[in-house]
Amino acid sequence: MPSFALSSLFAAAIVLGFALRTWLAWRQMRHVAAHRTAVPAPFAAKVSLESHQKAADYTLARGRFGHVSAAVATAMLLGWTLLGGLDALNEVVRDAVQPRWGAMAYQLALLGAVAAIGGLIEMPLDAWSTFRIEQRFGFNRMTWRLYLTDAAKGVLMGVLIGAPIAALVLWIMGAAGPWWWLWAWLAWTAFQLLMLVLYPTVIAPMFNKFQPLADPTLAERVKALMARCGFAAKGLFVMDGSKRSAHSNAYFTGLGAAKRVVFYDTLLGRLTPGEVEAVLAHELGHFKLRHVPKRMLGLFAASLGALALLGWLAQQQWFFTGLGVTPNLAAPNDALALLLLLFALPPFGFLLVPLASAWSRKHEFEADAYACAQASGRELAQALVKLHEDNAGTLTPDPLYAKFYYSHPPAAERLAALEMEPAR
Ligand SMILES: [Zn+2]
Repeated sequence: MPSFALSSLFAAAIVLGFALRTWLAWRQMRHVAAHRTAVPAPFAAKVSLESHQKAADYTLARGRFGHVSAAVATAMLLGWTLLGGLDALNEVVRDAVQPRWGAMAYQLALLGAVAAIGGLIEMPLDAWSTFRIEQRFGFNRMTWRLYLTDAAKGVLMGVLIGAPIAALVLWIMGAAGPWWWLWAWLAWTAFQLLMLVLYPTVIAPMFNKFQPLADPTLAERVKALMARCGFAAKGLFVMDGSKRSAHSNAYFTGLGAAKRVVFYDTLLGRLTPGEVEAVLAHELGHFKLRHVPKRMLGLFAASLGALALLGWLAQQQWFFTGLGVTPNLAAPNDALALLLLLFALPPFGFLLVPLASAWSRKHEFEADAYACAQASGRELAQALVKLHEDNAGTLTPDPLYAKFYYSHPPAAERLAALEMEPAR
């Protein structure tokens, strides 16, 4: 492929992706604004007009912010690639680092510099989101001090975890011959599995406290449910989510002995014991139905495909020049190739987003059905309404926007499906 063809294709994918993203967001905002005046019928008895309108205003504010961040992301992508940002940075870093510290140090420095510049550009946006939007709607609980501590910890984690795995992959790319991508994939897969154990047990506890359930009556009920579902009782934790935000949630994570269900303290404080039990049954359903390994297999397959593609692309001159970079003559091009893959995949992969969302929504319906068999579907429905209310989640999303992006089914669909389940 001539490099001009790749440049054109890439530019078209970026522009079309931006247009599609903006159009979907605009649809969502228009739909939410149009339904702002009345609580939809199925929720009329459960949700006040006031919280319905707060949810609409919050969705609109987030939507406007989304326009800005999508524009910044698109400008950054063009700046790095076709406008020559990565090419210029590469020359500077290569000439400064390689002669003194060698090829590996140069490549790691390049990856680090790109990550640092990206982080610095995104930081004001993130701070705006936290201290303006979240603050205005009463969600933010972070001080600047905590915010900056988090950022520093994040950078430290990135260096401690990111640098070794990047060095390993770069070393494999340079040393393992034409099948390097297969070895790199094995290393990457092992790393992902390791993270699935390390994240809940080591990394997340550096940011939050995780404690066993304190309430003894609730603990009894929960224990009984977990026994019914064949799940180790020590796997349930309460997290101090209120330290950062008033948003509430529950999630499942981990693998093997590190499997756990986590409730935010903000959620626990709002639910009745029966509702806690129903939400927990839903999360246990994700484990029981093997959603974690299924998702991991999906990710592993996708990363194998991406690395195999890179194995071929990294040998093509046009892959570099078509994306705005002159390949090095006297230095390895592996870090450049990795970065270009990371830049090039999202615009082309954007159309896979609705597939991943649909798959995730399927899992949510399955976990809901499981929860109905193990606990009360009526109480799960109540808990879902509370979750929407507390998080100012809109009850009237644009159907197409929801199909494209939503990892969880819209509340109305979920409640309708719960009502179809036989009562336990
Ligand atoms: Zn779920």
